[in-house]
Amino acid sequence: MAYFNKIKNLLLHFFFPRVCFACGIDMDRKDNNLLCPTCQKDLKPIEGLICKRCGLPLKDGGAYCFNCRGSKAAKYKCSFIRSSLYFTPSSRALVHAFKYEKYIHIAKFFTPIIYKTYLKNPEYFEADLIVPVPIHKSRLKQRGFNQATLLASGLSAKIDVPLLEVLVRKRKTKSQTSLGRKARQENIKEAFICPSPALVKRKAILLIDDVCTTGATLEECAKVLKAAGAREVVALTVLRE
Ligand SMILES: [Zn+2]
Ligand SMILES: [Zn+2]
Repeated sequence: MAYFNKIKNLLLHFFFPRVCFACGIDMDRKDNNLLCPTCQKDLKPIEGLICKRCGLPLKDGGAYCFNCRGSKAAKYKCSFIRSSLYFTPSSRALVHAFKYEKYIHIAKFFTPIIYKTYLKNPEYFEADLIVPVPIHKSRLKQRGFNQATLLASGLSAKIDVPLLEVLVRKRKTKSQTSLGRKARQENIKEAFICPSPALVKRKAILLIDDVCTTGATLEECAKVLKAAGAREVVALTVLRE
């Protein structure tokens, strides 16, 4: 019987290998983790010194990062951004597998992680609505889902705040990955609309996205939401690049 089980497990492993999402090492079939123990250690929560507005990790003290310092913090429409994890090989691999290889169950793995960040920041508690950053309809068709909506729905269920997709990405934009700060702002400019302003009027909104790099996308969404009458816009993402 033990011999039979061994053969069965080998066959199962051959046809349905369970490997670590980050390093690809073989994992025990019974191991339900997405990452091997070594790669799990590489998931690093963001803590310590960060910019009071945009959440950027700071190397040397101060309350704000260079881009939010002085009178600059007040010009932003998105008043508060926090992210749960640093961009490391493990966190990157998980988001990549989730977004581009359609392992959508990874969204569930991120739910408790972003929930923890939510609980740590009372700035989020006022939120009346959770709004995912939208993707363009052609991308939605090709991918089959919006990663931000899946993340937002996990959090929405946890905190009992309704999720509403009130933003639409009207313009297809280039991937932001290879662009610098200014180019990102230009690329994403006027990419979103809020077709039903009545839904956001006087509401405090919690924007959700998978990754925050310069915050340009979140800021552009916040601009549109504020122009539509939102009272406050704050944001939460899984990763900070
Ligand atoms: Zn690994
Ligand atoms: Zn900042």
